[in-house]
Amino acid sequence: MNFLKRRFSSGDLQGELRDEDFIPPVAPRKGPSPSAPSSPSKTTSAPGIGRGFFSANKPTYNRDRCKTLLVIDDCHTDWSKYFRGKKIFGDWDIRVEQAEFAEINLAAYTDSGCMVDIQVNRNGTKVVRSFKPDFLLVRQHVRDAHEDWRNLLLGFQYGGVPSVNALHSQYQFLDKPWVFAHLIMIQKRLGKEMFPLIEQAYYPNHKEMLITPKFPVVVKIGHAHSGLGKVRLGSHYDFQDIAGVVAVTSCYSTTEPYIDSKYDLHIQKIGNKYKAFMRKSISGNWKANTGSAMLEQIAMNERFKIWADECAEMFGGLDMVAVEAIQGKDGKEYIIEVNGSSMTLLGETQEEDRRHIAELVLGKMQIYCRPTPTMSKTSSTGGLMHYAMNGSQDRMGPNQPMSQQQQQMQQNQMSQMAGNNPQGNPANARGPGMMPIGGQGQTGPSPMPLPQVGRNQSMDEEDTMKNLRKTFAGIFGDM
Ligand code: ATP
Repeated sequence: MNFLKRRFSSGDLQGELRDEDFIPPVAPRKGPSPSAPSSPSKTTSAPGIGRGFFSANKPTYNRDRCKTLLVIDDCHTDWSKYFRGKKIFGDWDIRVEQAEFAEINLAAYTDSGCMVDIQVNRNGTKVVRSFKPDFLLVRQHVRDAHEDWRNLLLGFQYGGVPSVNALHSQYQFLDKPWVFAHLIMIQKRLGKEMFPLIEQAYYPNHKEMLITPKFPVVVKIGHAHSGLGKVRLGSHYDFQDIAGVVAVTSCYSTTEPYIDSKYDLHIQKIGNKYKAFMRKSISGNWKANTGSAMLEQIAMNERFKIWADECAEMFGGLDMVAVEAIQGKDGKEYIIEVNGSSMTLLGETQEEDRRHIAELVLGKMQIYCRPTPTMSKTSSTGGLMHYAMNGSQDRMGPNQPMSQQQQQMQQNQMSQMAGNNPQGNPANARGPGMMPIGGQGQTGPSPMPLPQVGRNQSMDEEDTMKNLRKTFAGIFGDM
């Protein structure tokens, strides 16, 4: 299989065996994971088969000037190739780590953020890689028929990891009826004509599932993707049967009229790139996304654009959004659902879509992953400070107090950055560690404390003068 070849071929791989790679001394942990076991036995052998992160060659990124992007996706796509050679902040590389939710564990801390462990199987040996992600791209559904990774989502949010789509919005996607409720709001605002949402009924449990107005009807049970949990029913007897099934699942469910469809419509928006597709089942399944289907890219139009733009406004903003609709044989369109960054990519333009996603991520990293100026004392300078642009908030947490000297240096640094604002983006002018207002900024990591100005600053200055007087008094006598 092609994807296996790609997964294991070193030509496609990135990075090398690093300090963070280790073989756990005992069986892999279960349950919540600390960032690293106490005494990892580090591997010294040549890199072996991995999950797309190891290479026998030199790493393709500069270890001292790189930001770590964690892509949550299955192994069918090697995301590292879309970021190879790409730079942010002029000369910073992107180090790509990729894993499925099932391979990830993490621990998140109030002061130092989120440490992620990825478990990989290398030559039959369980290897754990630990790292601190600077940014996330989530291409897998957080919740599906038989999995729910909200525990990890909570950890990423806890650690303040910025993400595409924003973690806040991904949390809102955990329940399809919740998303649908927001589509109803859009319809109320725009009108049925402009935003033709399918009519639905919601049942929190089976008890009210007694009658439904029209048959055939489609019942959608619980939160599941890829056609799972969806049944088409032709009569009251079928409906009663399904109500009985819902009773033993303890799931909520929705019902909607079955639309005799010409084809499915899939309108996607990735950043500011729009595309529309039609999908027609050729295997005869009433669910066009199940079995084989014919796919064709169709022209975007103003109407589709409005749907995508309106949906992209939901939950504080969706960087990527796909609107799913049905083109009925009656000539009408019916919007049935919306997906976020875990949307399925369709057709022959998937490669281009992935490049667009990579561009989107790079743009967001440019805003949210600014290298943080940190102070380090050099012994030779006897207390003189200098800046290390290594993004190590863990060494000096965002909430630790800074000395007046540190504050002054950060202020200088910030004004330099504000003067050198390559994208003309207000976010870039905010300075290191600062988040733009709105979107992820509201839920993202807490900003670095701003240098204190005004009263506090003048008090600090007085303190410094006092200290200087004392020091010189010690050397030269009272001044
Ligand atoms: P996801 O896109 O998240 O994987 P899903 O595939 O599980 O969701 P839907 O998109 O709601 O669920 O439905 C799957 C397919 O079933 C649709 O693509 C469409 O072809 C068909 N379908 C869904 N609802 C209806 C309906 N009311 N009438 C006719 N066909 C429908």
